[in-house]
This record gives sequence, structure tokens and C-alpha cells, in this order.
Amino acid sequence: MLLKGKTAVISGGASVRGIGLATARLFAEHGARVAILDLDRHACEAAAASLPGAGHSGLVCDVTDRAACIAAATSVLAAFGQVDILINNAGITQPVKFLDIGPENYDAVLDVNLRGTLYLSQAFIPHMRARRAGSIACMSSVSAQRGGGVFGGPHYAAAKGGVLGLAKAMAREFGPDGIRVNCVTPGLIQTDITGGKLTDAMRADILKGIPLNRLGDAADVAGAFLFLASSLSGYITGAVIDVNGGMLIH
Ligand code: NDP
Repeated sequence: MLLKGKTAVISGGASVRGIGLATARLFAEHGARVAILDLDRHACEAAAASLPGAGHSGLVCDVTDRAACIAAATSVLAAFGQVDILINNAGITQPVKFLDIGPENYDAVLDVNLRGTLYLSQAFIPHMRARRAGSIACMSSVSAQRGGGVFGGPHYAAAKGGVLGLAKAMAREFGPDGIRVNCVTPGLIQTDITGGKLTDAMRADILKGIPLNRLGDAADVAGAFLFLASSLSGYITGAVIDVNGGMLIH
């Protein structure tokens, strides 16, 4: 039990095959109470109800909406009393080529992945700072490190690169307040984010470049988040953990 007595908030956590829900499940198995934030009320509540143990909650929160992030933080803190862990997981992607990126593509992808990480962190950091404790883990991607080319377009690579910079700056600013901030950079993980647009040919091509010879599962990423959330990583901040089967070794 690595998270006994801890409370965690996970954005984008209601997707049934998603990394957020796999992380929520693992955290709950390790003794945490978890608040799942996502867009659809029914999905949030169903996800929270599916977790092992008691006291979890599911709340609607669009992370691109600053007021919604603040309202979610107020509501979670009223229910839990404290928040120890924040996982900025919500994200969207689009397989759009550079010259085809329109303003609506740019806004949608940058807003959820990058602006959402900023707003939700801003909503919880004052509480963590007052307690002089907290672990925040942010979802980046191998796309940020290798310049895309996996599934998401250049605007996705830029958004996830932005998350790396933002998280490292947060680690520097809030380290003295006892708050650790780290990132995870997964390779291709089998979830529904690709919206059926990942073809067998694309999958086979990607596999050729993965030394561990398989695509990742949501649970693979959940394990990295558990490490970053727990005291096992107590002296780690500003770090980036690759979860990519060796797709990018550097
Ligand atoms: P999913 O689509 O399964 O999960 C993402 C969740 O985020 C969905 O439930 C989605 O809701 C939710 N979401 C979307 N927009 C918002 C918003 N504005 N506010 C709150 N929640 C929102 O995908 P994954 O589990 O694969 O993705 C999780 C994270 O991992 C993302 O940040 C993604 O970019 C990142 N990632 C994924 C990789 C992969 O290969 N799968 C690789 C590297 C990084 P809805 O379904 O209603 O849109």
C-alpha cells in the first residue's frame, strides 16, 4: 500500500480504457481516495463507482475552463479535506499534418493539453502550498521528445513539449514549498484516444521501432504515476519518466 491515507485528483480519468482510469484504479488499490474529473457526468460517476474501496468521487470538470477547475478544487477539498496528489492527465490528439493545422485544431489541442495543465495546477497549488506538501504529475508524450511522428500532429507535439516546460518551471518554483512536479512521456499506449484512426499498418510500422516489441497498456503508465505520486520518489522533482518500451532511448 503505497498511498494509504492519501487523496488524489486525476483529470481525464473517466475513459474506460484510458490511462487516467487505470491510474485511478491502481491508486485506489494502494489505499488512496480518488477524485476523477472528466467531461461527462455519468462517465465520471461510473468510473468513481468502479474503483476498489470507498469514498471516491467523480466530478465534471472541463480543464480548459479556469472557473470549472477552481470549482472542482473547492468541491474536492470540501469532500476530502486535503489533496496530496494531482495527475494532469486530460488530453486530446489529432493526426493532422503541419500545413493543415487550422486555428480550431491549434486551439483545441493546446487548450486541453497545455492550458488545462496550467489551470488545474493553479487550482490546487495554493492548497498544497499551504500544507507544504504535494505531488503533481503531468502527462506529456514521446511526441514532445521526438517531434511527433507517432500519431498526433505537430500541434500535439508542441502542446506536450509545452507541458514539459511548464512542469519543470513549476518544479523549480514550488520545490521550496514542498511540492514536487514531474512528467511522464509515454510512447504509443493502447487506449481510445486515437479514435479508431490508428490503422493496422500504422501499428505494425510503429512496432518495428519498439525494442520491447509491444505497444503499451494503460497500466504501464499507471505504474509510473504511482511511483511519482508516492514517497518512493520523494527526492525527485522536475524529472521526466519515459514509458515507451524503448521507442526513444536517449
Ligand atoms: P483517452 O481519450 O482514453 O482519455 C483522455 C480523457 O480526457 C478522456 O476521458 C477525455 O474525455 C478527457 N478529456 C478530453 N478533454 C477534456 C477536457 N477539456 N477536460 C477534462 N477531460 C477531458 O486517452 P488516453 O488515456 O490515451 O490519454 C490520456 C493522456 O495520455 C492524454 O493527455 C494523452 O495525450 C496522453 N498520452 C496518450 C498516449 C497514448 O498513446 N494513448 C501517449 C502519450 C500521451 P472524452 O473522451 O469525453 O473526450
